[in-house]
Amino acid sequence: MAAWDVIVVGAGPAGARCALGLARAGVRVLLVERARQGRDKPCGEGLLPRGVAALRRAGLGDLLDGAAPFRAIVLHSGRRVVEARFLDAPGAGVRRADFDARLVEHAAHAGADVRFEAKVRDVMRGAWMGVLAGADLLRAHAVVGADGVTSTVRRCLGLDGGAGDRLGVVAHSPSPWRDAVDLFLGDKVEVAITPIAGGARSVAALVERRRLRELGGDATRWLHARLGELGIVPGALDAARCTPLGGRARAVSGDGVLLVGDAAGGVDPIIGCGVTLGLLSGELAAAALVAALDGEGPTTRALSGYATALRALRRSSFAAASVGLALARSPLLAECAGAVLERAPWLGNRLLALVAA
Ligand SMILES: Cc1cc2nc3c(=O)[nH]c(=O)nc-3n(C[C@H](O)[C@H](O)[C@H](O)COP(=O)(O)OP(=O)(O)OC[C@H]3O[C@@H](n4cnc5c(N)ncnc54)[C@H](O)[C@@H]3O)c2cc1C
Repeated sequence: MAAWDVIVVGAGPAGARCALGLARAGVRVLLVERARQGRDKPCGEGLLPRGVAALRRAGLGDLLDGAAPFRAIVLHSGRRVVEARFLDAPGAGVRRADFDARLVEHAAHAGADVRFEAKVRDVMRGAWMGVLAGADLLRAHAVVGADGVTSTVRRCLGLDGGAGDRLGVVAHSPSPWRDAVDLFLGDKVEVAITPIAGGARSVAALVERRRLRELGGDATRWLHARLGELGIVPGALDAARCTPLGGRARAVSGDGVLLVGDAAGGVDPIIGCGVTLGLLSGELAAAALVAALDGEGPTTRALSGYATALRALRRSSFAAASVGLALARSPLLAECAGAVLERAPWLGNRLLALVAA
């Protein structure tokens, strides 16, 4: 017999938000996380206004206590500096270690069981769904893969669509920054500097995976060198961490399974929307599972609406990320776009509103 209705694998924003939604609806849910409690996920740590709104709507506004509001994205490309403003509401810079931990606490408080330091090694489909976490075989009617870009759930259930070809290098600086995210387009590298909670800033560089060799095992020195090339004076930085980006999923739902957040296929962080999409997809997945468990059970058919809803949710983000990547890869295009936006700042604001809303 299954001990839980749903096992959620991965306690990032997507998994914790999904577990919270399920627990609030009275579903028996277990949230399983390989890391220790309070792990710090390498991230730019900026939440778009749409993510901020989603938190407030769900009664999770306390997660934003101490967050650093930002009201604009400033694009630096060659000589050009153009600013696009969030006209309706600001975004928020958080600290992921704290933000993720508090979201898990909400899920636990709502009734979710939570296990840390339990790495999922295998997922099996039979009369019930089986999840092998450490030495334990855990059973449920459905499994949610919320285990990030290199999702084990996705791989074990044959839903993998391939690895991404970029990686991120992230560090924190204790010195404060202004109330804007600065995005620098450099030579095959993009750097985002985001004000975050505690008067600090997050420094995140995005590069092609093949540049990994340049790191030479010293990500902090590599990051300092790239910042120097871009004329950025970062101040003190803590040790930089390196992480893969953008694995793909062949499908995001199946018999007894849903994928959420980055596990469902990451949108490139060049537009900083992954946490927002994680929260929103976790919310969607919880609603889909509650409806399925109330009805015919978590069958492929009962869960198929989730894929359609997720596609609609992420459409504008994928489009914006494609534009961002095109600008990053073509200095000529970036120069032309910069010239247009310099003359028509309202256009930048309108484009940003499409991503933010
Ligand atoms: C350099 C960089 C900069 C970024 N900047 C931003 C930004 O400014 N704003 C923004 O919104 N997004 C940003 N992102 C993207 C954002 O970090 C992700 O989209 C977001 O973390 C996705 O949330 P998630 O819950 O899907 O996955 P994650 O946050 O990755 O959480 C997945 C969890 O699953 C756990 N896990 C993995 N495998 C297993 C296993 N086998 N068993 C159990 N647990 C497992 C992991 O330990 C982890 O806790 C950035 C990403 C990078 C790399």
